[in-house]
Amino acid sequence: MAKVGVSRRQFLAASGAAAVAGVTAPALAQAAPRVVVIGGGFGGATAARAIKTAAPSTAVSLVERERTFTACPFSNLVIGGLRALPAQQFGYDKVSAAGVDVVFAAAIGVDREARRVELEGGASLAYDRLIVAPGIDIRWDGLPGYSEAAATKLPHAWKAGEQTLLLRRQLEALEDGGLVVMSVPANPFRCPPGPYERASLIAHYLKTHKPKSKILILDAKDTFSKQRLFQEAWKELYPDHLEWVALSKGGRVTAVDAETKTFITEFGEHKAAVGNVIPPQRAGRAAELAGAVDQTGWCPIDPVTFEAKRSPNVHVVGDATIAGGMPKSAFSANAQAKVCAAAVVALLAGRSPNPPKLINTCFSLVGPGYGISVAGVYEPVNGVLTDVPGAGGVSPAAAPRSERAEEARYAEAWFNTSTGEIFG
Ligand SMILES: Cc1cc2nc3c(=O)[nH]c(=O)nc-3n(C[C@H](O)[C@H](O)[C@H](O)COP(=O)(O)OP(=O)(O)OC[C@H]3O[C@@H](n4cnc5c(N)ncnc54)[C@H](O)[C@@H]3O)c2cc1C
Repeated sequence: MAKVGVSRRQFLAASGAAAVAGVTAPALAQAAPRVVVIGGGFGGATAARAIKTAAPSTAVSLVERERTFTACPFSNLVIGGLRALPAQQFGYDKVSAAGVDVVFAAAIGVDREARRVELEGGASLAYDRLIVAPGIDIRWDGLPGYSEAAATKLPHAWKAGEQTLLLRRQLEALEDGGLVVMSVPANPFRCPPGPYERASLIAHYLKTHKPKSKILILDAKDTFSKQRLFQEAWKELYPDHLEWVALSKGGRVTAVDAETKTFITEFGEHKAAVGNVIPPQRAGRAAELAGAVDQTGWCPIDPVTFEAKRSPNVHVVGDATIAGGMPKSAFSANAQAKVCAAAVVALLAGRSPNPPKLINTCFSLVGPGYGISVAGVYEPVNGVLTDVPGAGGVSPAAAPRSERAEEARYAEAWFNTSTGEIFG
């Protein structure tokens, strides 16, 4: 890290010398520090705007391959028929208006020696510091029988958009009495409570539209996020429409057959009318191109700066990171991006970043007007983001319905505030 501060000082010194030698003003103007951000989702778009706000003279480029961002939080409501997909979609006009150079292209390479990001189409962008926030990629080799082709029959819907609509359409076409099967992978994966929120909202749809149907959750784990609260709600709301099978009861799916929509476990086979595979995942490919990924498929980071432990001058935020106790959530990505942005601004100015405290809250909707949450506060301890003891917690068990309704409103307020801050 000190290296970059030094090299930038050397660069400025060299610029000064060049000025004496008669270099023109536009060339000097290029001395403004350059930050490139790959990925314009919850982490990347937050980081780009935060840097531009804190240090307006920094040249910030945001590389994003899609012109419209489709948010995953609340996409389970689309699957449950309670929300339309356009409510999940955001453009980048306001990000550009904030002074960020938004470049619509896929990043296909990173030259770490030359500090350049290579873009599809042949262009490249130079950086002093690179922030990578590509989210997740599916491990297409992680579940026998599952592939990109198989995902057209057994959607994952774990990247929102067309996959979300595909699963929704399949549920609409389901005959009353048909079985819905969902497979859930082992940790770590994007949004730990997400599968159980989705199963709840599918169960709500079945209860209200296909009462003879049910959803079976086949899980590669014995415990999961907000488990007690989910199970309490399931007992009350969906006793006939939702069944959870834990790892120890034969829940781990070892293979799927997309043609017959069959889920194979160590204990037997389950044939689905509609199948949802939540597959094993890894950091988005751009993190690998930037040299930040380790043998786990994710990126170890310095918890103060979010600089990749394996790749100097490259910072990683969001789902792609190994962030200690912090879950892979949009809330976390947003918080990490702000900390990372402040650190990058400090480093570019030759200052030492301050150790941060980060907050995460994950809301889940178990049904319309029924919200639950888990919150945590994290700080670096011996190089790892660690829970601050006693600072977080989950919604109370056996709370009155009015409290669940209140949490559902908080969830929506969080989504609107967060997406408004990032894209508005
Ligand atoms: C069903 C579901 C429900 C969820 N609900 C919640 C919730 O209620 N609350 C919550 O906090 N979190 C929730 N999450 C998790 C949340 O969506 C992710 O944690 C969050 O999106 C992570 O942010 P990110 O910036 O790391 O990645 P993303 O938001 O996915 O952004 C990554 C961006 O990078 C772009 N990109 C990737 N590679 C390249 C490349 N090579 N070149 C250019 N662009 C590239 C992608 O197009 C994308 O726009 C949910 C997730 C799912 C699947």
